[in-house]
Amino acid sequence: MSLDLKNIVTVIQAKWLGNRTDTNIENISIDSRSLQNGPKTLFFALVGPNNDGHDYISTLITQGVHNFVVTHIPHELADKASFFVVDDTLKSLQIFAAYYRSMFHFPIIGITGSNGKTIVKEWLNFLLSPDYNIIRSPKSYNSQVGVPLSVLAINEKHNFGIFEAGISTRNEMEKLEFIIKPTIGILTNIGSAHDEGFSNIGEKIKEKLKLFKNVSVLIYNKNKTIDSFLNPTIDTFSWSCTDHHADVFITTKSILDKTILKVKIQNNHFEIKIPFRDDASIENAIHCMMVMLYLEYDYQTIETRMELLFPVEMRLKLKNGINNTTLIDDSYSSDFQSLKIALDFLESQKQYKKKTLILSDIFQSGLSNEDLYSGVSQLIISNKINRVIGIGETISKYKSKFLNCTTFQNTDDFIANLNQLNLSNETILIKGARTFHFEKIVAALEEKTHETVLEINLNAISHNLNFYKAKLNPETKIMVMVKAFGYGNGGFEIAKLLEHHKVDYLGVAFADEGISLKNSGINLPIMVLNPENSSFEAIIQHQLEPEIYSIKGLKAFLKIAEQKKLYHFPIHIKLDTGMHRLGFEEENIEELILILKASKAVVVKSILSHMATSDDVKHQAFSLSQIDLFEKLSLQLITALQINPIRHILNTSGISNFSQAQYNMVRLGIGLYGISNDAEEQKQLENVGTLKSIISQIRTIDAGESVGYGRRFVAEKPTKIATIPIGYADGISRHWGNGVGFVTINNQKATIVGSICMDMLMVDVTNINCFEGDSVIIFGESPTVIYMAEKLKTIPYEILTSISQRVKRVFYRE
Ligand SMILES: *Cc1c(COP(=O)(O)O)cnc(C)c1O
Repeated sequence: MSLDLKNIVTVIQAKWLGNRTDTNIENISIDSRSLQNGPKTLFFALVGPNNDGHDYISTLITQGVHNFVVTHIPHELADKASFFVVDDTLKSLQIFAAYYRSMFHFPIIGITGSNGKTIVKEWLNFLLSPDYNIIRSPKSYNSQVGVPLSVLAINEKHNFGIFEAGISTRNEMEKLEFIIKPTIGILTNIGSAHDEGFSNIGEKIKEKLKLFKNVSVLIYNKNKTIDSFLNPTIDTFSWSCTDHHADVFITTKSILDKTILKVKIQNNHFEIKIPFRDDASIENAIHCMMVMLYLEYDYQTIETRMELLFPVEMRLKLKNGINNTTLIDDSYSSDFQSLKIALDFLESQKQYKKKTLILSDIFQSGLSNEDLYSGVSQLIISNKINRVIGIGETISKYKSKFLNCTTFQNTDDFIANLNQLNLSNETILIKGARTFHFEKIVAALEEKTHETVLEINLNAISHNLNFYKAKLNPETKIMVMVKAFGYGNGGFEIAKLLEHHKVDYLGVAFADEGISLKNSGINLPIMVLNPENSSFEAIIQHQLEPEIYSIKGLKAFLKIAEQKKLYHFPIHIKLDTGMHRLGFEEENIEELILILKASKAVVVKSILSHMATSDDVKHQAFSLSQIDLFEKLSLQLITALQINPIRHILNTSGISNFSQAQYNMVRLGIGLYGISNDAEEQKQLENVGTLKSIISQIRTIDAGESVGYGRRFVAEKPTKIATIPIGYADGISRHWGNGVGFVTINNQKATIVGSICMDMLMVDVTNINCFEGDSVIIFGESPTVIYMAEKLKTIPYEILTSISQRVKRVFYRE
């Protein structure tokens, strides 16, 4: 894009203030962290519940950004940049995107529905790309912010668009329709997601249908409920597997791992085969086929292309690589937009200073190769990538555009030469179009793992953090507890994400946990809950901050601090207000004051206490008495010492139930990991961890035969048994076996039969269509950790922290 600022200002009806520089705009940004920000960037300072873009303007100015769309000009910056003042910056971004969209006149597909939007979009892109230059939403950019950003990536060379629109509540779709202005509509389906935002299903359907207000055709699965809401003036092209009134009637038949679709349209019949057998994939594939029929593709082409559909992996995965490397696996797509996103992710995750990009040829940019690879080169330079490994014939030709670049003609070539490349101590982004099969590179570079992994959804962690933030006063600080390896979820990666989100403190149980975080480059202050005297030296050396809970501990720490001639080293004073675990009691306070008054070696950074029953209304009176005592004792310290420390007493359920006692900081723990003990609140959190494995073997046993040690399960009828390579050594309680627990295979429950072994367990899959190698969910969306804890008569904390360290953690972003 290249647009005149004057035009933009007119379109969004902004007041142009500040120091005026006329320039062309080539990049729109809303993210202060994006390394693509520069002199030709127009930055929209969006104001969200958790973040205000205006706070970043002064930093951005030092980084060379001159142009800002704002609601007000931050203090003392008026003459430092150009400001375009509007009432609502998000609305301006949307208006601008709609204006930009109106400059292009080619077919645009708008997709909405509860599930399948992203897969349908990616598949259509694959099916239609031989014939069109397609612009599509990157990843699942389908929100009020994501849609305008997607649309703003259109350029002159595109001749077809595919955008998804996602809504979570009333009155959102109209705005998205105004921006996308689709000419072809697809309604994937209506499920129960986001029901909270609507008073009933009818309201939700009506809202979604607003996307199709101006389309020439709507493609959908014919269904009475939807028909009753559909505006009769809209042209439709419908399909069904049950209703013969639909334009296209389909019957399906599964054969092993494929499905045959028998299609009847008017009086014609044809058949296609797709490499999937689950209902969701079949439905998504049919929507794609409908688009091809509508675009008048011949049956032969439809058949050939549909047979090549592939599973869509929409996530950037973070994996441990060989030789101390971290891999960012984005091995399924390569286009300019998603390269930008992946590079931003790389920036946020850098565990090693050195950064390498492995990149294939880029397809469908709509630009000439010359312009494209110049653009890619600029992107790589601004992201400070140390080394580029290009794979493919085209990128090889443009090698000279990159610094420190090695190229290979194809993926096998690269793998054959892997040893000479000395990949070590670095973060490697692996980004390639599907045809390059970069999964082979990932397999070659990945640290070998068992089939069992705990997948951690980093987006869900951000969501949960913001959920609790929204419950607090804006100035209340947040300490996040990452003890016990982030409640079993992973220490460093989560700490890195929290640093990114600018939380104020981290909390760990023991010094070594804090040391390992500091050593891997975490700069946030870290409080150590239970510093043993033997670790005081290390605590000081690594600038950790001890919680001091006894006179004895205080004296021991002071002795070392004074020897080292420290001045005002931060410590945290823990008060016992009723938990009776650690802390100073009321009768210690006088002595505590005397000792602290006498030393300049330490300073009381914070005063804290911990609640025993914040999760239980039954004990509300007790909780309130703890808060009262905390108020009294902390005030006593503050007055006597004349200090102004941070005070904090609330953990996760404290935040929910006693927010009046949030003081200056709260300590968020289990809630971050997606678990609340309040059922209503639970619905609003997102699941963070999914423990997954695979089926190693399937067999059928006869009635009377038994399974496992002790013959604890005996089949009453012929029974199909699947063996899963996860057992009690991985942290799955033996109490979960013998018919108590279940796993999920292909969306169905499979009961655990027989006793759980050390490294394996067996499940009954008699009624489940499944194969060896299929994925198995041990916990996640179903069963949930909460459900398991209930059945096992324990708490979610124990289930999460029991998962053994031999289970690999894989982190991903959606
Ligand atoms: C673990 C812990 C927390 C966090 O508790 P959650 O219930 O997980 O929110 C807070 N404070 C202290 C002292 C803790 O030990």
